[in-house]
Amino acid sequence: MQNGGTPIWQAACHCRRTRFEVHAEIDHARICDCSICHQRGALIFRVPENALKLMTPLHDLALYQWGTGTAKDYFCKTCGILPFRRPRTVTPEEQAAENFSGWAVNLRCIEGLATLKLPIRQIRGHELALP
Ligand SMILES: [Zn+2]
Repeated sequence: MQNGGTPIWQAACHCRRTRFEVHAEIDHARICDCSICHQRGALIFRVPENALKLMTPLHDLALYQWGTGTAKDYFCKTCGILPFRRPRTVTPEEQAAENFSGWAVNLRCIEGLATLKLPIRQIRGHELALP
């Protein structure tokens, strides 16, 4: 589970056709109120580009884009679960701190993670007018 201090989490969609690893210290969960996060109800955690290791090729997943077309929501073609996505926007703090350009992971796909014990970070996605 450990690799030089960074935990390695195994993750999969419901049918396990989509498998991936997350290399990160997961210390909170994001709940966003933008239109799609609100309907989906996912618990999200953002990781840098190289912290997500795909065992399933990206082209094996279905892709949903809407609005400005800058966010990419990936879905398992078999079970319909969203295991991760490319976010559309970053918060002002994130832009200042890290110029985020990684992945948003659906924490409910991570095996053995106590999602309901994580501190919740409320994200006011519907108020952000960033492209
Ligand atoms: Zn699946």
